[in-house]
Amino acid sequence: MPILSIKDFSIHFYTPKGVRKAVDRVNLDLNKKEVIGIAGESGSGKSTLAMGIMRLITPPGKIVGGKVLFNNEDILSYDEDKFNKEIRWKKISMIFQGSMNGFTPVFKIGQQIEEVLEVHEYKGNFKERVNELLKMVELDPSVSDKYPHELSGGMRQRAFIAMALALNPEILICDEPTTALDVITQAKIINLLKILKKELGLSIIFITHDLALLSEISDRLYIMYAGGIMESGYSLDLYKNPKHPYTQLLMDSIADINKDYIKGIPGFMPDLANLPKGCRFSDRCPYAMEICKQKEPELKRIEGDRYVSCWLY
Ligand code: SF4
Repeated sequence: MPILSIKDFSIHFYTPKGVRKAVDRVNLDLNKKEVIGIAGESGSGKSTLAMGIMRLITPPGKIVGGKVLFNNEDILSYDEDKFNKEIRWKKISMIFQGSMNGFTPVFKIGQQIEEVLEVHEYKGNFKERVNELLKMVELDPSVSDKYPHELSGGMRQRAFIAMALALNPEILICDEPTTALDVITQAKIINLLKILKKELGLSIIFITHDLALLSEISDRLYIMYAGGIMESGYSLDLYKNPKHPYTQLLMDSIADINKDYIKGIPGFMPDLANLPKGCRFSDRCPYAMEICKQKEPELKRIEGDRYVSCWLY
């Protein structure tokens, strides 16, 4: 049984220009001690999906349907107080996009981690726990006495990971955790996450637009486009042999040192308030057929663990 199972999950934004379906009937499973990657262009709904799991969607956004099952229990049905006390940070925690800049500049790192412990009624010794967490992310405990501006970007990101792990969560959601870091620091953070996964038995949802990075860290991949899942499967299989035209074009757009050009995907993501009637990728797809403009393809299994939403299959 998956530790987290998302069923027909939908998040809409009610804007003056119409209802934007940012996440549209998404299904996804995360197994225990597994890393799943969610990839797609900016605006494909990856971060909104993560915020939805954490129940951090605020108006004009709204979760309008579906279930989020944690150990088979629908945590969307919990009231806010129960969710905060039992799930948020304790069972499911998140490293937000740009989190390394998310520390309050006027408080020391240790104080900010202690605040999390206090708010969530941690029973042990705060100072000892902060030191333990900093060591866990390979930072010297003296970092506790530093202000955020005294640390490098990589150190701040490690400190934020320590904060996310403060209450021993079972699931860690990492939203673009290495963006804005140089390649060496990026590799070190990825390595750290791999170690933490092994040592703490974490299950991880890793979100990024960087497919090459995802194939390295994740066991399975989900490809999102305009709010929907286009393809999913084992990372290496999917990376080597993408089936969905969108995934193929996404792979082609990865920068390659052997190429002297970068190929982009022609066209733009559709308006989420006005999605095409059929396949949501039909406006940009080189293989679009008549049926693609009329009827939306379902996400269906085509072989092994590979699921694709495309009329070609
Ligand atoms: Fe292209 Fe049609 Fe497949 Fe959509 S369903 S990806 S338009 S071939």
